[in-house]
Amino acid sequence: MTIIRSRSALVKYLDLLRQRGGTIAFVPTMGALHRGHMALIAEGRKTSTFVVCSIFVNPTQFNDPRDFERYPVTLEEDIRQLLLEETDVLFLPSVDEIYPQGIKELETYDLGYLETVLEGSSRPGHFQGVCRVMRRLLDVIQPDTLVMGQKDYQQCMVVARLLKLLQMKTSLHLSPTVREEDGLAMSSRNLRLDMAQRKDATGIYESLQYIKTHLAPGDLSPNIRVATDKLVLHHFRVVYVQVADARTLELVSTWNGQQPLVALIAAFQGEVRLIDNMILSQ
Ligand code: AMP
Repeated sequence: MTIIRSRSALVKYLDLLRQRGGTIAFVPTMGALHRGHMALIAEGRKTSTFVVCSIFVNPTQFNDPRDFERYPVTLEEDIRQLLLEETDVLFLPSVDEIYPQGIKELETYDLGYLETVLEGSSRPGHFQGVCRVMRRLLDVIQPDTLVMGQKDYQQCMVVARLLKLLQMKTSLHLSPTVREEDGLAMSSRNLRLDMAQRKDATGIYESLQYIKTHLAPGDLSPNIRVATDKLVLHHFRVVYVQVADARTLELVSTWNGQQPLVALIAAFQGEVRLIDNMILSQ
């Protein structure tokens, strides 16, 4: 695996790989890697000749500065995992390398409705930050395939929109959520949970499953209420529990029995904000 820290060196190196006739899959991450990230690398390998992974904790996507400061960093262990998965390139830029003009006055993107609901409304500015870093990474890497996790369902939709806005040919490949044995979606933030919180954290998966197994045409709000109560019983501070159209994220309160649906949850376990989602019907 080649580790590259500068944009110019990465452009040169990727040009060489392309000259050899290779295609490139890109897996952007913020590090503290786990099996969910490794599944994305494996997907990238299936679609392309070379896999580039980036580790960059992007300051512009944290609406809470304390969350940024406390984001886990486990670089040595990350490199070990990436080597095991036979990643070709690790891009490890500094903040100055990605934002040479600083992070104060940056461009904005028209994300429309997506920015007004769920993660968009509860984390103001978050998706603008995601687009800012993604544009810069995509500009440098110009991947054939971009691999992202369904764990961040709304983020996938935002990035699909960004690719359209930038008129890029990169194809977006979504990879299913990888879970711990008890159902908790793998997340770098899980490292910040203490033992009791880690145990309670399974409440998100239980709530999503409750909504899924009780899905029936008609009013969805009684099930959403039960799912919310389950979270509270697991000591969560609930941000949202919603059911939405899986294609548009329009919120759905009454189901016609046909619309494809996704259930989405955000909730705090102590100071740790966790999100998860589950497709209910396709
Ligand atoms: P992050 O490092 O949290 O920014 O995530 C980097 C990429 O890994 C994103 O595309 C995430 O959606 C994806 N990802 C994170 N957790 C999981 C998981 N448990 N299963 C699958 N993909 C994941």
